[in-house]
Amino acid sequence: MTEPLRRFFVPTGSLRARNVTLGADLAHRLGRVLRLKRGDRVLLSEGGGREYEVQLTGVSPYAVTGVVLGEREALPEPEATLVLYQSLIRANRFDLVLEKGTEIGVARFVPVITARSLVQGEGEPAAARGERWRRIVIEAAEQSGRGRPPRVDAPLPFEEAVRQARGLKVMAFEGERGRSLGTYLRGLARRPETVSLFIGPEGGFEDSEVDLTREAGAEIVSLGRRILRSETAGIVASALVLDALGELDV
Ligand code: SAH
Repeated sequence: MTEPLRRFFVPTGSLRARNVTLGADLAHRLGRVLRLKRGDRVLLSEGGGREYEVQLTGVSPYAVTGVVLGEREALPEPEATLVLYQSLIRANRFDLVLEKGTEIGVARFVPVITARSLVQGEGEPAAARGERWRRIVIEAAEQSGRGRPPRVDAPLPFEEAVRQARGLKVMAFEGERGRSLGTYLRGLARRPETVSLFIGPEGGFEDSEVDLTREAGAEIVSLGRRILRSETAGIVASALVLDALGELDV
């Protein structure tokens, strides 16, 4: 069996002509890291819903050239927009949420600074961190076949995040005993177009944060009787939302 072609996102405008030239970043990944060679084929996408099969005609550490062999529709993005308001947690755990959330189908990540978000950067400059987050979601989107990489916003203070959240607002809170996320979603009369999902940090949400979110019209839900770590909760709740909306069906 032939292996599926590797996919990469390229900057807008890269695929305007039959002959393509890719810059140093991709040359490094394709040539150095993946050791692709002249003659190898890859799938390239500008993230706009189409993908192009390209045969490499030249690979150097500085530039990769190729020729377009064909073009096709990329996998459609989920119809429902899931925005994951994930509290900032330790860097490697937050990175995991970005990677797994992208694979599952999260449309946009909003990092949230809550009262108990202890870690707010670990000394990494904001620009470098944003760049790293962007790379993580791009690679996860390439790997999982997404038509477009999700957005990653700049971190927002909790109150602001609650204020800007759109669509159906849901907060996972381990103190909730009445209703689970799944039961709530299955009981909805109409399929929401946008779901804004709030997940707390390692130390959980403060009661005042839960109250504020409820007052903003959010539904407070349980993820079951066991306490999940923040990153587990973000990944599991995303999968439950997308499944309830039919986005994990074939
Ligand atoms: N420190 C808290 C737990 C926080 S878990 C405690 O020990 O009580 C981190 C976040 O994951 C929570 O803020 C919540 O958003 C989510 N979460 C984890 N387990 C959950 C559950 N069983 N039900 C609902 N939300 C949960």
